[in-house]
Amino acid sequence: MASLITCPHCGVRPKEEFSIRGDAVPVRPAPNASDETWNRYVFVRDNPKGVIREYWHHVSGCRRYLVVERDNVSHAVLSVTDATVAGRAGQKEGVR
Ligand SMILES: [Zn+2]
Repeated sequence: MASLITCPHCGVRPKEEFSIRGDAVPVRPAPNASDETWNRYVFVRDNPKGVIREYWHHVSGCRRYLVVERDNVSHAVLSVTDATVAGRAGQKEGVR
């Protein structure tokens, strides 16, 4: 289990200081998207095996939202990025 997370603002911290807030991959649909598209965005999630990207909230630290990329098989943490920075990078690359 990934017991230590390197927060870009606070440094190495125990995972108990964080709250997992969900999948960071879905992209918010346009306001006029179909009900089916909105239903999928709000309620349907894939459950892939391997590398995943999640929003983590540093509740007991800087209180920033982070994007944590980790392997849900080995529990290795591959990267931790401030969600604001990750969002900007995703907009440039066309991914989130
Ligand atoms: Zn922090």
